[in-house]
Amino acid sequence: MNFETKCVHAQKDISAACDKTGAISFPIYQSSTFAHPGPGQSTGYDYTRMQNPTREQLENVVAGLENGDECIAFSSGMAAISAVMELFKPGDHVIIDEDLYGGTIRLFQHVNEKNGITFTRVNFSEEDIRPHIGENTRAVFFETPTNPMMNVADIEKISAIAHEHGLLCIVDNTFLSPYLQNPLALGADLVIHSETKYLGGHNDTIAGFVVTKTPDLTEKLRFLIKTTGAALAPFDSWLILRGIKTLAIRIDRMQENTAKIVDWLTKQKAVTRVYYPGLSDHPGHEIMKKQSRGFGSMVTFEVESKEKAIQILNDVDLILYAESLAGTETLITYPLTQTHADVPPEFLEKNGITDRVLRLSVGIEAAEDLIAELDRVINSN
Ligand SMILES: *Cc1c(COP(=O)(O)O)cnc(C)c1O
Repeated sequence: MNFETKCVHAQKDISAACDKTGAISFPIYQSSTFAHPGPGQSTGYDYTRMQNPTREQLENVVAGLENGDECIAFSSGMAAISAVMELFKPGDHVIIDEDLYGGTIRLFQHVNEKNGITFTRVNFSEEDIRPHIGENTRAVFFETPTNPMMNVADIEKISAIAHEHGLLCIVDNTFLSPYLQNPLALGADLVIHSETKYLGGHNDTIAGFVVTKTPDLTEKLRFLIKTTGAALAPFDSWLILRGIKTLAIRIDRMQENTAKIVDWLTKQKAVTRVYYPGLSDHPGHEIMKKQSRGFGSMVTFEVESKEKAIQILNDVDLILYAESLAGTETLITYPLTQTHADVPPEFLEKNGITDRVLRLSVGIEAAEDLIAELDRVINSN
């Protein structure tokens, strides 16, 4: 079955087992606990922190989209990453990409380091990770493309190196979704999604996934979600299930809009740089053509001055000045003070996250309206 069809119909196949009414939309099982038929017996559901039918349905659909062993649904992307980090113990070392979502950097620096895990930051798109692998190294962790600088790493190459050294390869696939990239098929062991983004897709729900490659990893993460408790609620699970039905058409439209906007941005005098891996001169362009089915709808650009950047944020109207990404509405973000506010200045500088950098998440509106708005705010004075 093709991906687009799976997004709509995988949901039906699984619901048949649970629901005899013929309902096309999977029910929301808003129950915290489940009655047992008798001592030592279970319907398969005991308590919603462990599992709930609506969450299970969502997990099955997403595991199918990423072709993983299982998917585990958390109450946010950060809860998913926090649970993954519980796989490590004091003394363990993890190699991470230099450019990551700001919240992930904050978690590593302020929570995991305190608990004795050490990190080495490497630019996965440019440097060899091998010299940084030591006795106590356990994993590599990266995004591709990265948030917000759109650096591209070669998943196949990095996972091969990781496996040669017995390391786990963990990829945050939020920026492309399973529609455009499947890291497990390229060798990764764990895939993370902030499903707040493309999978939910409507800027209305916070949620996160881990998709596992092997039953061994599934078992460890099932234990962790049961024990630490950040499981996704039934209603939120249902919202993501609904979002997934339109995943493919939303992304198709967003990418069409993005291509037009990128083309327009590259021609503006006030725009000094455009970071988009769909551009043929982007250093990651060829790798993305090999490992992804599209370039996504995130574009980062630099304007001529800080004043210009601030003026754009003040003047936008149709485009909303807000954090988050990959929803139906086009959003503009100022990484320096929003998503990456807690990142140390030396990291920001090295990654090129300056006071002139803006990040655009292109939505499903008409491209003409978005370009008219950008023209107004960028070229107004
Ligand atoms: C948003 C985001 C996260 C965090 O997810 P939340 O759902 O906001 O907790 C992690 N990684 C990336 C790449 C993100 O964009």
